[in-house]
Amino acid sequence: MMNGCVFCDVAKNRIKTWTFYEDKLIKAFFDIHPANLGHSLIIPRKHYSSIVEVPDSVLLNMFSLAKKLILTYREVLSIKDFNILLSEGREAGQEIPHVHVHIIPRFAGDGVVFNWKEKNELTTQFPRLQKEIQEKLKSLILK
Ligand SMILES: [Zn+2]
Repeated sequence: MMNGCVFCDVAKNRIKTWTFYEDKLIKAFFDIHPANLGHSLIIPRKHYSSIVEVPDSVLLNMFSLAKKLILTYREVLSIKDFNILLSEGREAGQEIPHVHVHIIPRFAGDGVVFNWKEKNELTTQFPRLQKEIQEKLKSLILK
């Protein structure tokens, strides 16, 4: 069944991609709209629209591959700087609702921009937020 998800089609080999790694859980390929040479995507083979749905074992494999890909690019392309980017949700810029991690090689003067205006006034909320986050996180981790 087609669910209209381009990364599900990629995962099921219905779309040709420049894949350089795949196993039972994940797949990695070049982004066809690259920000730089070597810009790659790592996806779970199963459809998850949010990172919170992805089993920890799959996330571990995705980020472990990201690490090994960086080691590989260091060797093969002599690239040493990268952004690892996962956009969660529409307001964060997630365009395809199938979890994916971008590995973006970076070079001096490459014109790739991640930019935000610092909202330093928000630091006054840190004490309250620290307490709330600590408590909730502890309950999730002890589950
Ligand atoms: Zn999908």
